[in-house]
Amino acid sequence: MTEIPAEIQQYEKKIYDLRQLLEISRALNSTLDYQYLIQAVLDMCLAQVQTLSAALFLTPEMDSDMITLVAGYKGFDLQRPIEDYHISLDSPMLEFFEHSKKAMTVDQLDQKIGDIPSLALVREMGAELIVPVKAKGKVMGLIVLGEKVVGGEYPDSECNFLVDLASLGGVAVDNARLYERATVDMMTSLKNHAYFQSRFREERERALRRKLPLALLLTDVDKFKNFNDTHGHQAGDEVLKAVARVLIDSARSVDTPARYGGEEFCVLMPGADADRAMEMAEKIRSSVQGMTVVHEGKEMKVTLSIGVSVLDPDEDQRTNKNMIERSDKALYACKHGGRNQVQFYQKGM
Ligand code: GH3
Ligand code: MG
Ligand code: MG
Repeated sequence: MTEIPAEIQQYEKKIYDLRQLLEISRALNSTLDYQYLIQAVLDMCLAQVQTLSAALFLTPEMDSDMITLVAGYKGFDLQRPIEDYHISLDSPMLEFFEHSKKAMTVDQLDQKIGDIPSLALVREMGAELIVPVKAKGKVMGLIVLGEKVVGGEYPDSECNFLVDLASLGGVAVDNARLYERATVDMMTSLKNHAYFQSRFREERERALRRKLPLALLLTDVDKFKNFNDTHGHQAGDEVLKAVARVLIDSARSVDTPARYGGEEFCVLMPGADADRAMEMAEKIRSSVQGMTVVHEGKEMKVTLSIGVSVLDPDEDQRTNKNMIERSDKALYACKHGGRNQVQFYQKGM
């Protein structure tokens, strides 16, 4: 058997690593789901470098001034509550990584910046190697890895690989955040109108193609203006947040609760027929009736009207508009019928 020259072996390893990175890049770019991405990055670290512990620190929001330990870390046995694990963006450790894109062991960092509190924090976790996570040239987090299963140091090739993985992960996380920002209504945490319309279109087309049911609930807070007029706009906002929470808690994972506009919300329910949709609407209506919203010591009781319609293959081939109109007519009938009720669309409403 002929021996493969060392140089060729090195190139082959390089090609293998690049292929892996390409796969990782594909995997990370195929989703905008933030939680999924975090898990994927951690799993990829564990799979690539033979350690049992991996954790991510990230800025909790885009414009935060610190990074915090993200839930879902692997292998580390923390001595303190997770909230204690945060590092200020002006800590010397993160400033160091602003100018360096290399992975560093805890001991190497100690020599560069001294045993400062942020380093002591990760050392206490059981960290061995720290890899900066960057997006658009700025540090947005750290990957922290424990010792290798086989012992010994992380070789340069693994450190370089981790830096590349961290930068792909950073860009993917940044994109997921931008997408979240563009599709979620900040005040209520519900999906916004634009997202609702495009999701509705997708679900409508899928339901038509596969001959599956699809339902749409349209909700409107009863006499909402009264809350604003009597207790102020802030109190009105609290009412909207509380109603939104009921929608989010009631919805199944396949449903999309969204803010249609102002004090009007909606729930898109793939797979739901008229009975299921009416059941859900009634559950939401009665939950809202049962809650009390407290704002600055004032207790407010809220009621909701809900119009319901289901997909009609003859009417809804081309646009979302007709189905929204039917739910809206049913909603209008609720208002006419005395509010705090649920109605299913009937012809002639
Ligand atoms: P009805 O039972 O007929 O629905 O009565 P209503 O008072 O709820 O209906 P109307 O449409 O007249 O009032 C809705 C009000 O909701 C008008 C608008 O000022 C207020 N509103 C819309 N968006 C917001 C918001 O984000 N925050 C607050 N506080 N008020 C909002
Ligand atoms: Mg309204
Ligand atoms: Mg209203």
